Amino acid sequence: MTDRFQAVLISRDEDKNQSVDMVELTEDDLMEGDVTVAVEATTVNYKDGLAITGKAPVVRRFPLVPGIDFAGTVTRTSHAGWKEGDRVILNGWGVGETHYGAYAARARVNGDWLVPLPEGMSARDAMAVGTAGYTAMLCVMALERHGITSARGPVVVTGAAGGVGSVAVALLAGLGHHVIASTGRPAEADYLKGLGAAEIIARDELSGPAKPLGKERWAGGVDAVGSHTLANVLSMTSYGGAVAACGLAQGMDLPASVAPFILRGVSLLGVDSVMAPKELRLEAWRRIATELDHAKLAALSTLVPFGDVISAAADIVEGRIRGRVVVEMP
Ligand code: NDP
Repeated sequence: MTDRFQAVLISRDEDKNQSVDMVELTEDDLMEGDVTVAVEATTVNYKDGLAITGKAPVVRRFPLVPGIDFAGTVTRTSHAGWKEGDRVILNGWGVGETHYGAYAARARVNGDWLVPLPEGMSARDAMAVGTAGYTAMLCVMALERHGITSARGPVVVTGAAGGVGSVAVALLAGLGHHVIASTGRPAEADYLKGLGAAEIIARDELSGPAKPLGKERWAGGVDAVGSHTLANVLSMTSYGGAVAACGLAQGMDLPASVAPFILRGVSLLGVDSVMAPKELRLEAWRRIATELDHAKLAALSTLVPFGDVISAAADIVEGRIRGRVVVEMP
């Protein structure tokens, strides 16, 4: 197969200076794998922003096609679980970090990494959810495993106007929770209320140094921000509550005290989407397909052409993207 297709390629020179270019590749240029997929839609996650801007060491081999998730159709397979024409989703597994990723019209991957596109969901819808939204569902499932029902009290979502945050607000509100959305963008209050937030609080309320224990304000939370924000969220979680932590938009540190854990029995639930086992992925995508309100998904996502993916990646690390960005392949 010698058909040429467009791709984003991250390269490094001998002085470790990174460059990002739109190039043309053929299938012969792709890395090893037993399934080839025609990528129909992809997206821009925070991690893609870090990879393309080089702000954090996400890319661990050069050159590399970035893009940590895609949806598309199987064009070639020697994997027992897939046949030509199957519609699939990929999230994580090092794709876009160590393995050529989604920002190309074709991807070749290990078939074990794929999950089926849920019935009735388009590739574009799946990428409106993307890894950020699938991670939001993993956070909701972690809270549920810990018994955080809507009857226990409010839940807080940090980085609420971002990708993980927007989907988390929509999912939790859909499940009947009283959602407190924390955002640094007061202009997005109506947007967040449209997704189902009952209350909006300013990012500043949570972003400074935390006291060991604060007033009990919520039974649980989804935190996409880390650092002081997560420390504050923990310190304000009520007795026996739990917080699902998945992100580091403020920082990777956690300047917290053990007080919430040892005095209030609060639990900190770590959530990883990259290496999550297949059963968890299947359950997350099944629930997204049935529980995420379609109108809210449309409201929280914006379509951008493939040619804009590099600038969108820069925008996401600057906090300029609202909700989710869907990238349609040419
Ligand atoms: P987004 O950029 O879309 O959302 C992050 C949001 O965090 C922003 O929109 C903003 O929300 C808030 N924010 C940004 N900078 C700061 C800051 N300095 N202090 C406080 N809040 C800030 O990214 P995603 O939703 O795609 O990802 C969110 C986080 O989750 C990232 O750190 C990402 O790496 C992580 N992640 C982790 C996964 C995992 O497997 N564990 C999977 C997917 C994502 P607002 O404007 O509303 O304040």
